[in-house]
Amino acid sequence: MQHKGTKVAIIGLDSVPPELMFSKLLGKLPNIKHMYDKGLHGNLTTCHPPITVPAWMVMMTGKNPGKLGIYGFRHRKGHSYKDGYIVNSAHVNEETVWQALARQGRKSIILAIPPGYPPKQIENCNIVSCFITPSMEKSFTYPAELKDEVLNVANGKYIFDVTFRTENRDAIKKELFEMTEKRFDVAEYLAENKPWDFFIMHEIGFDRLHHAFWKFFDPTHPKYVKGNQYEHLDEEYYKMVDGRIGRLVNVFGEDCVTFILSDHGSKGMRGAFCVNQWLEREGYLAFKSPVADVTDIDKADVDWTKTKAWGWGGYYARIFFNVKGREPNGIIDPNNLSLEKKKLVEKIKNTILDDDGRKMNNLVFEPDELYGIAKGDKPDLMVYFGDLDWRSAGTIGHNSLYLSENDTGPDDSVHSMNGIFLMYDPHRNLRGKELKGLKIEDIAPTLLQMYGINLPDNGIDGRVIREVAGL
Ligand SMILES: [Zn+2]
Repeated sequence: MQHKGTKVAIIGLDSVPPELMFSKLLGKLPNIKHMYDKGLHGNLTTCHPPITVPAWMVMMTGKNPGKLGIYGFRHRKGHSYKDGYIVNSAHVNEETVWQALARQGRKSIILAIPPGYPPKQIENCNIVSCFITPSMEKSFTYPAELKDEVLNVANGKYIFDVTFRTENRDAIKKELFEMTEKRFDVAEYLAENKPWDFFIMHEIGFDRLHHAFWKFFDPTHPKYVKGNQYEHLDEEYYKMVDGRIGRLVNVFGEDCVTFILSDHGSKGMRGAFCVNQWLEREGYLAFKSPVADVTDIDKADVDWTKTKAWGWGGYYARIFFNVKGREPNGIIDPNNLSLEKKKLVEKIKNTILDDDGRKMNNLVFEPDELYGIAKGDKPDLMVYFGDLDWRSAGTIGHNSLYLSENDTGPDDSVHSMNGIFLMYDPHRNLRGKELKGLKIEDIAPTLLQMYGINLPDNGIDGRVIREVAGL
């Protein structure tokens, strides 16, 4: 498999779980079924946390989030109480597959891989930035002139992302299909018109479909209503993409190995757990005055002289301790920090019940232990409530610890640990063999091996998938 003409393409489908693509809907997706039957497939275990940013970068560098120093979209700035920032492409310092290829003069197309804004200037690459791009008016391609071509293909309106946490489901649906069709139009255009050895694209639409419509198409979701108008929207959308994948793989040609990959899976959301209200109840968090209305923790009047720990919302809870000499008004003696952590971990694991009074299966991680190295602005603890069945709500002022809805807008699904892996080589009949134990960090080293590039000795966590690399 290692030869000069190696051509590999990755179609990245955000948030697609094996339960939908390889089970429920496979029989309705003729192109994917064909690739599945002739290729290799498996569950692709994602990183902790199972979030788009950092997951795609873990996949494309082979390094865990601790080494990347990326623990989600939003990060706390140093040890500030209020300041934060959103991760962008400039925060990724480890080498991606296309950078390694570029060093050898190989050419790549990178369409919408997150975090891809602002687009990096990498020789031998044609780059279009991702769903975090603020607007079409910005410079969103490398080289800069490529922007006009993209806009031309998209009839003047290229769509980076849809507004999905709103109640106007018809509007989301319309924009979702339009966005994805245009992404594949641009993908076909780039694959046909630009030189490449490596092609990779990302489609965010699946993630938006799942968040906005999961309760409508999953009969096991507590809010599912039989016969609702979006009952088959998963099938409709997956089928549309299947058609586009068939066309795109034709453009790739017979000499290209194609992968279809997702960064994590999805599952129905049970509700949100109010982490800061719980911390207040347990005596860890104090306010200067009672909180009457629902308020963001960043805007609340926290009494830092009486606060030991507070948390952030999101798919998982990030918990920070208020440490003397580290935080501006820290109260925990640094010598007692590990004991305080241990006590809180025990409490989270053993005492939190769900809204039915049953023990929640909470998972708690300490970044340094989890990753070996944890660079950048890491939380003290990472908490998955009910193994992520429950989101973490960071807001306070609710009547209950349990919310049936997300506190940042309508949302029916959460992320799960298994994404999908599918590999198809038109020249090899691999008979639909299932591979076990695949991890997202294995993709980068496997790709480098396919191109005959020696793995750099720089801390790659993944391993080469031997069946894929043809070893
Ligand atoms: Zn994702």
